[in-house]
Amino acid sequence: MQDIFAFFQATIAHPSLRIAPFYLPGMIILAYWVWRKQRETGSFWRWLFPRDIYFHRSHLVDIQLFAVGRILTLLGAFQKVAVTVAIASLIVGFAGGTVTEPATLSPVWIALIVLLANDFTVYWVHRVHHEHPTLWPFHAVHHSAEVMTPITVYRKHPIYDLISSTAKGVILGVAQGVLLSFLVTDLSVALIAGVNVFYFAFNAVTANLRHSHVWLSFGRRWEHIFISPAQHQVHHSSELRHYNKNYGEVLAIWDWMFGTLYLTSDREDLRFGIGDAEGNRVAQPHPTLMTALIEPIQSSLATLRPARSKAARREDAVSGAPTPPAQDAAQKAARRADAVPGGATTIHPAE
Ligand SMILES: [Zn+2]
Ligand SMILES: [Zn+2]
Repeated sequence: MQDIFAFFQATIAHPSLRIAPFYLPGMIILAYWVWRKQRETGSFWRWLFPRDIYFHRSHLVDIQLFAVGRILTLLGAFQKVAVTVAIASLIVGFAGGTVTEPATLSPVWIALIVLLANDFTVYWVHRVHHEHPTLWPFHAVHHSAEVMTPITVYRKHPIYDLISSTAKGVILGVAQGVLLSFLVTDLSVALIAGVNVFYFAFNAVTANLRHSHVWLSFGRRWEHIFISPAQHQVHHSSELRHYNKNYGEVLAIWDWMFGTLYLTSDREDLRFGIGDAEGNRVAQPHPTLMTALIEPIQSSLATLRPARSKAARREDAVSGAPTPPAQDAAQKAARRADAVPGGATTIHPAE
């Protein structure tokens, strides 16, 4: 019995999982408030869990990618904590040891510094994936979702997860190493409690509505500080005016600071999915789990080939040889990378 409980907790009920059952009541209460405000008619539950969304092919791929991600996590593929500890120890060693006087910073400030470092990292990891054509295919898996439910947050390629967790591990390691070397004597209890309380609150309140059809705007003033569910839905829109906007996870200040903020108010009719340079949604590149896992690797590798292909083309022109099919595929992938938001020509900076 205990084993079953432990398995249940590890797979779908761990507090680090945004869709864990104890985070759902908050989402349902807020959704109910939106439902009343929008004066929707009919059943609330059917409105909140529409069959055409929950049984959509795109959502079935989300569920499969979630399962793949959980298996890899349980197998220890994403060792963020280990990276953090290693980097922090390195910095402490380099600085000549930890602080010995009593801590001068309160636990609240310590937690805030770590949260800011984490959220800042998420912003840039996310943005770089949109802007770099070799990385974009791995994040495109998240953006090829045609419908969104709370599970869509786990529609991610394992390589994106790996890069993201490593980057977070490194930045958190630097933050913790600097804190321990120069500012505080001990991080453990206060820090972990503070950070966990913050993320618990985030998960319990609005996080699950980010990937959903429920439009919840915080209003223009608050959306300078916190990313609302509506702002993240805009980030998933395939329309031109929404490209390159709202990369932030919890805080909107990074988008505000770096010029990528898009504010919402009245409900906008959004079409989720990957758009081309004209704002038209492109055909689903990941209709199945296999394509979602393999196509990004092929597309990413193809972006590394054009330079070689050019040289090969010059040689071919001299020798009169026909264009090899591999080169065709590389050119197609490069064109695709140009067309999608975040490709080489358009800068489309989340999650
Ligand atoms: Zn994104
Ligand atoms: Zn998202």
